[in-house]
Amino acid sequence: MSISVRNASKQYGEFKALDDVSVEIASGSLTALLGPSGSGKSTLLRVIAGLETPDSGSVFIGDKNVTGRPPQQREVGFVFQHYAAFKHMTVGDNVAFGLKIRRRPKSEIESRVKELLELVQLDGLAKRYPSQLSGGQRQRMGLARALAVDPAVLLLDEPFGALDAQVRTELRAWLRRLHDETHTTTVIVTHDQEEAMEVADEVVVMNRGRVEQVAGPRDLYENPANEFVMSFVGQVNQIDDTFVRPHDLELTLEANGTTREAMIERIVHLGFQVRVELVRDDGEHLSVQITRDEAERLELEQGQIVFVRSTRETTFSGS
Ligand code: ADP
Ligand code: MG
Repeated sequence: MSISVRNASKQYGEFKALDDVSVEIASGSLTALLGPSGSGKSTLLRVIAGLETPDSGSVFIGDKNVTGRPPQQREVGFVFQHYAAFKHMTVGDNVAFGLKIRRRPKSEIESRVKELLELVQLDGLAKRYPSQLSGGQRQRMGLARALAVDPAVLLLDEPFGALDAQVRTELRAWLRRLHDETHTTTVIVTHDQEEAMEVADEVVVMNRGRVEQVAGPRDLYENPANEFVMSFVGQVNQIDDTFVRPHDLELTLEANGTTREAMIERIVHLGFQVRVELVRDDGEHLSVQITRDEAERLELEQGQIVFVRSTRETTFSGS
């Protein structure tokens, strides 16, 4: 089901957590709310969920205006960073919880729970207790529980935030596959731009309670609307008003008319990529991204003098 937030504002004392926010989330999409800590992501998610009432503005789920309605009337499923499971209940019973309180027939509950545990790849673990699961398994149980009641929208607030980097990467890929199977309209809050870019169809970039840009991952990276998005999404070098991505800088060993002299301060090997940290003759620091092959071909070394040139630069008017 689609979600439409229209001119929502929310203030805590003097602080504007949401400042006239409007977003349209397409039915069946996976949308990320991305922004730094304190930018209003959770507040927006909670306004969509009905856990928070906006001071002004409205929320539609599908074509229904749900603004004044409590969460249980909105057909939303949630998962938070620290998934709150019933500790004394088995995994199966936790997943069944929403169906039980809706008094679904026992046979339906059993088959649905089985199906959901398969979907989140926890089949065989129904009889365990939450404390016997790993962090990643617990978050997947949370997703199964949220999906059990067939929510119109699934709302995830930093669901993988408490997990270590490797598990987080796995779960991201898994969430994407899950979404491709279920097509449940999903909104995921994250402060991690890589997570947003990897998992989402659309990214809503937030900053100080406002929406800076809404775009697909590629477009966001290639055509950022402003300085904030340019520097928040992906790495960037800034010199005065000019922004250059690290891979839009070229290194050569010989000067030509368009290059500038720089010294290599540090070479960081990141597998396929190599990051070269430079300091220019005017003291500006630059980060350059090249492939391992390119680095080997140039035989780069710390302390060496090289020549650098940008192949693409971005400036924003009015800044
Ligand atoms: P994010 O999820 O992007 O980190 P939040 O939406 O949680 O940001 O919060 C935005 C700002 O609103 C924060 O600076 C926070 O201090 C403030 N805030 C959030 N909820 C409350 C609340 N219930 N009472 C007071 N201030 C709040
Ligand atoms: Mg938050």
